[in-house]
Amino acid sequence: EPNSWEARAMANVMAGFTDFPTLHERGPMILTHGKGVRLYDTAGRDYLDANSGLWNVVCGWDHEGLIEAMVAQTRRFPAYHAFFGRMADTSVELSEKLIEVSPFATGRVFFTNSGSEANDTMVKMLWMMNRAEGKPERRKIITRINSYHGVTAVSASMTGKPYNEHFGLPLPGFLHADCPHYWRFGEEGESEAEFTARMARNLEELIEREGPETIAGFFAEPVMGAGGVIPPSKGYFEAIQPVLKRHGIPFISDEVICGFGRTGAVWGAETYGIEPDAIIASKALTCGFMPLGAVILGDAFAERMQAAAEKIEEFPHGFTSSGHPVACAVGLKAIEIILEEGLLANVRMISPYFMKRLNALADHPLGGEARGIGLMGALEVVAEKATKTPFDGALSVSERIANACLDQGLICRPLGQAVVLCPPFIMDETLLDEMFDKLETALDKVAEGLKA
Ligand code: PLP
Repeated sequence: EPNSWEARAMANVMAGFTDFPTLHERGPMILTHGKGVRLYDTAGRDYLDANSGLWNVVCGWDHEGLIEAMVAQTRRFPAYHAFFGRMADTSVELSEKLIEVSPFATGRVFFTNSGSEANDTMVKMLWMMNRAEGKPERRKIITRINSYHGVTAVSASMTGKPYNEHFGLPLPGFLHADCPHYWRFGEEGESEAEFTARMARNLEELIEREGPETIAGFFAEPVMGAGGVIPPSKGYFEAIQPVLKRHGIPFISDEVICGFGRTGAVWGAETYGIEPDAIIASKALTCGFMPLGAVILGDAFAERMQAAAEKIEEFPHGFTSSGHPVACAVGLKAIEIILEEGLLANVRMISPYFMKRLNALADHPLGGEARGIGLMGALEVVAEKATKTPFDGALSVSERIANACLDQGLICRPLGQAVVLCPPFIMDETLLDEMFDKLETALDKVAEGLKA
C-alpha cells in the first residue's frame, strides 16, 4: 500500500542500523504510544518491550511523575544553553545531584545530549589536560574489542566493533584490548583465573608496547552492553586496575547502560569494585524521556581540568543544548524515581528470578551460554553445544529468534549470536514469566525450523 505508514517510512526515512529502503526484513514497525512496559504500533499490535527502548526507558512509557516534571519545567523555562557562564538553574541542581550519587567526594559535571558526545567530550578533556600539562604525546585511548561507546568519529573509534571499518575507523591512536569473555575466548584447558590473568598480562604488554607515556586513558563498560551483555571474567577488574595504576593511566567507567541500576547497584563500577576517575552517564539518567548525557569528573580530574582551563583561559567546548533545562529537570526526577522511589530496590528484588529463568535457557537445544547480572541478560545460541560452534552468519539465528519473538508480541534484540534482554525496572515476576515464556516459544519455533 503506497500510503501506508510502512511505505512512507521506507520511502523517506534513513534509520540507523538498517539498510534502506527495507529498514527491517519484516518491514518497519511504526509505533504510536506506550503504556507501562508495552508498546503499540500502527497495525494495532502490542509488544512487551524487553529492550526498555534502547536500555533507557527503565520506568515505563507513562510515568506520571516524570511527565509532570517535564511539563512543569517546559512551562517554566523550556530551553537554554550553558555557554559563557550562563546556565539554567536545573543544570546546577542536577550537577550537584550527580556528584552526590557518584563515587566521588567532589567533582564536576559536563552535560551533553548523548552518550557518544559524552565519551567524545571526555577524550577531548584528556587531550586538553595533557597538552596543558606539557604532555601532548599522551593521546592514545585504550578500549576493548566488542565494546560500544557510541557513533561519533571519536566514540566510534573507541567502539570495538568491526563495522566501524566501513568508515575507515578507528582514527589513529585508538587501541583495542581483549574482550574478557571467558566462555567464548577462554582457551582449551585454561581456567577462568588463568584467563583473567592473561587479560591483564596482554593489557600490560599492549601498554608497554605503545609506551605508557603515550596513553591518555582506558575506557570500559563494567558490563559490555551492545557487545552482547558480557559480564567480565571473574576477577577481571581487580586484575587490570593495578596494571593501569602502575602506568598512571586513568580509568573512565562508561556507565551509559550500567548506570542508575541496571546491574543492581547505582553504578556498574560499584558492582565490580571499579575505582573510576570519571563516569560517563546517559540513557536511564532521564529514563530516556529527554536526550541527556553527562561526563562526571572525579576530584583529581576536576582539579586538572580547572588548571588546564585557567591556563588557556577557557574550555572551548560545548553543545547548544548542554545542560538543557528540561532534560536536567527530567534527570533530577528520574534519579529520584530510581534511587528513592524504589526502582533500584525492585531491580534488586526481581534480579534473582530474572537470573533463574535466564540461566534455565542454557538448557535449551539452541542454548550456548546464558549470562547476565542485575536486570541485563543474554542467551548466546550455538549450532553445536559441545564445541560452542556458532551459526554461520553473525545474526542469522539470533535474528530469527528475535523475529519469532515479535510474532509472540515481544521485542528483544539480536546482538551477534546472542538474544539480549534488558527489561524496564518496573517488571515483576508475572511480567518476567510472560517475557521468558514468549522467548521460549520463539526459541522452540526456531529450533524446529532449523531441524526441518
Ligand atoms: N556508551 C555505551 C556503553 C552505550 O551503550 C551507548 C549506546 O548504546 C553509548 C555509549 C552511546 O550513547 P548514545 O547512543 O546516546 O550516543
